[in-house]
Amino acid sequence: SIMPATLSAISNGARHGILFKGGVHLENLSHLKAIAFDKTGTLTKGKPEVTDVVVKQGLAKEDVLLKAASIESHSNHPLANAIVKYAKENISVPLVHPESIEDVTGFGVKATVGYDEWKIGKAAFVGKTEAKAFADGAADRMASEGKTVVFIQKNDEVVGLISLKDVVREETKQAIDQLKKQNIYTIMLTGDSQTTATAIASESHVNDHIAECLPENKVEHLKKLKEKYSNVAMVGDGINDAPALATANVGIAMGEGTDVALETADVVLMKNDLPKIAEAIDLSRRMNRIIK
Ligand code: ADP
Ligand code: MG
Repeated sequence: SIMPATLSAISNGARHGILFKGGVHLENLSHLKAIAFDKTGTLTKGKPEVTDVVVKQGLAKEDVLLKAASIESHSNHPLANAIVKYAKENISVPLVHPESIEDVTGFGVKATVGYDEWKIGKAAFVGKTEAKAFADGAADRMASEGKTVVFIQKNDEVVGLISLKDVVREETKQAIDQLKKQNIYTIMLTGDSQTTATAIASESHVNDHIAECLPENKVEHLKKLKEKYSNVAMVGDGINDAPALATANVGIAMGEGTDVALETADVVLMKNDLPKIAEAIDLSRRMNRIIK
């Protein structure tokens, strides 16, 4: 049977926008030593916006953007949605229909349009050296500003790039600082590039970060964190984060996250409210002192 102190802590949490799916998670929270955070939609707002479109000299910007947006319109990725929205606002011609399309999770989208093969996605997807050679360092410069750079490749040649900026939530820094005061180690796990990750991590105040993470890598890193810190939470919002949420001692989902994340999590932050994590830990530590 559930202890009165636990019951009261759970209902106290619910009144403050923290949903615990059972008393055991409160107990686990009180022993927490480290928290891993997803980047997009968790530390950031998850609503990227296009900031720059750069195309190879001699090519028409509109045409490259049209092809990229036409392909991205078949993906549900937040970056894809932002690119399609931007194209619709900035070019007047309707999108075209690719002959074939393949959404490669964690990398980008591959498609055939007419006789051409296109790839839209991260540097490692289009070929790191081709991406590096493009635009004479423009990509690096944008990434160091915390922007995500999406490369556009047509038949083995990088013909353009689109950079997108997703802003760090206003409350992120404060939420992380509070956790550090509670002696909790904070780390960001992201599928984004090293340079972009470094910029966002420093804006967010997290102790450390790991870039270029595929969903399965997030799980591996969590297992390592559990070995080192024994009690570890994961905070995320996406379908991609679900395996890591399940692996953590405490899985915490952002309330406006995807259904899969909400179902997998042990704790839900009802208003995407990151500072509630430190509050929940306080609550769990106090409850534990009452019980013991
Ligand atoms: P995150 O951990 O930042 O949410 P994902 O694992 O979803 O990232 O994707 C990792 C990277 O792969 C993105 O930063 C992006 O560079 C690239 N990517 C994935 N899907 C797409 C897409 N549909 N269009 C463009 N780039 C993509
Ligand atoms: Mg996310």
